[in-house]
Amino acid sequence: MRKKIVAGNWKMNKTAQEAFVLATEVAELVKSSVSADVQVIMSTPALYLTGVNQVIEGIPNLAVAAQNCHEKASGAYTGEISAPMLASAGVQYVILGHSERRQYFAETNEQLAAKTDAALANGLTPLFCCGESLETREGADFLGHVAQQLTESLFHLSAEEFSKVVIAYEPIWAIGTGLTASSDQAQEMHAFLRAHIAKKYGQSVADSISILYGGSCNAKNAKELFACPDVDGGLIGGASLVAADFITIATSY
Ligand code: PGA
Repeated sequence: MRKKIVAGNWKMNKTAQEAFVLATEVAELVKSSVSADVQVIMSTPALYLTGVNQVIEGIPNLAVAAQNCHEKASGAYTGEISAPMLASAGVQYVILGHSERRQYFAETNEQLAAKTDAALANGLTPLFCCGESLETREGADFLGHVAQQLTESLFHLSAEEFSKVVIAYEPIWAIGTGLTASSDQAQEMHAFLRAHIAKKYGQSVADSISILYGGSCNAKNAKELFACPDVDGGLIGGASLVAADFITIATSY
């Protein structure tokens, strides 16, 4: 049985007061309505991680995630936050390789390999993002392009380490555009990535890895996407900023 995960990616949204209100609403709704076997995650701006962690204390299936971490443990990197810092502040998850980080902050597959190592070495679970642009999708080998992101950033890991990673497939053309991948498109990529993982780590490891879908996943389309056999949950941007919508998604299994 793979873990079902619904992770909200708040990106650079919400004031401190708004963050507190949203986290409190989500916490109440997770307690009252979300099945205990669904792991719900709020990836808040780094500034709010410890505060939100206090709000959600004692709810076993609710956690926070950072949106990034630096690959080094400490040093002269003004503005950056390291994996040991996150772990020491009680954070359990970290999003790595979101397409916005790749696009606006020039994160490479190689750098993401180092960030993944840093996260795992500090007991953080990476939510590793991959996905293709529209241009790549319309080209010859979009499946291979996404597989290569996994190969170059993750396939140096041992099977034991790899088993701790959560994958999020997020087609860039679907992020924030209202243009969702169809369930057929999502299932095709997820099954392909699982087969790619199986070739490297064996079928039982591949079968144990949660692969989330992200990209305009919302309260209306989540059920259809989550019904796909290889879709194990979602990474939710815009719709995670409204508690009721986010929880509708978390109850869409
Ligand atoms: P979206 O964002 O749901 O707003 O498309 C998803 C993401 O970027 O993680």
